[in-house]
Amino acid sequence: MDREPSGSPRAGERVFRFAPSPNGYLHLGHAYSALLNFDLARRAGGRFLLRIEDIDRGRARPEYERAIYEDLGWLGLEWEEPVRRQSEHFGDYAGALAKLDALGLLYPCRCSRGDIARATQGRADWPHDPDGAPLYPGTCRGTVGQGPASLRLDMAKAVALGGGVRWREAEVGEVAADPSVWGDVILARKDVPASYHIAVVVDDALQGVTDVVRGRDLYEATRIHRLLQLLLGLPEPRYRHHALVRDEEGKKLAKSRLSKPLRELRADGATPADVRRIAGLD
Ligand code: GLU
Repeated sequence: MDREPSGSPRAGERVFRFAPSPNGYLHLGHAYSALLNFDLARRAGGRFLLRIEDIDRGRARPEYERAIYEDLGWLGLEWEEPVRRQSEHFGDYAGALAKLDALGLLYPCRCSRGDIARATQGRADWPHDPDGAPLYPGTCRGTVGQGPASLRLDMAKAVALGGGVRWREAEVGEVAADPSVWGDVILARKDVPASYHIAVVVDDALQGVTDVVRGRDLYEATRIHRLLQLLLGLPEPRYRHHALVRDEEGKKLAKSRLSKPLRELRADGATPADVRRIAGLD
């Protein structure tokens, strides 16, 4: 059957994606997420896309990307070609950033992590974002400077313009969420002209993704993603944040057998069926 190029979904068609970053070898947690997306796409008669999230040029490596194709192929997954590689689409992210800039929502920031730590240290009640980092104290907001800068979203203005943030979470229903808990997030880095948040919402929209199925560790980031979708006029996908694979003691994959890269499990003689079973996908 002929496929339309990715990004042109047919009306009513469900589109799922697995979007790993080639910063290391895939482990069981990735296998779970990839297989779950694949299974849900199959069951819905929908499409399954693979996207390589490689904008972090310092960490992404070709051998990890090659290993992703190899490991997912071994697991029995099939995905559409061509695979979208984010590093080839900085122009798309620049376009979205320009729109936000035209709305007066971005400002350049030259602070390092150390600068932020110094500005907020000793302030016991200083708020932290859901990942545990101190909220940006706004040092560069409204200032003019020179030299390489990251771009931050002026969260207060963005929330005022974007309106109430809500999303549909599978098995939960509608979630109302305030993105302000993240503060003025970075949307373009000093060294990379994009960030995970802007790239993920632009790509999900361009690829016609209808269902974002990913780990629970990205649940809170959805607050930012929905705000960006509202500001940029992008469609709202359905979300399902799945539990993370835990080790035998119920700990997040630490240095246990389960944190072994898939390729090592394979070398030890594990089969794709074993991986499905250990990941809890039977
Ligand atoms: N690239 C992200 C990761 O590997 C996942 C992004 C997403 O699914 O939204 O953690």
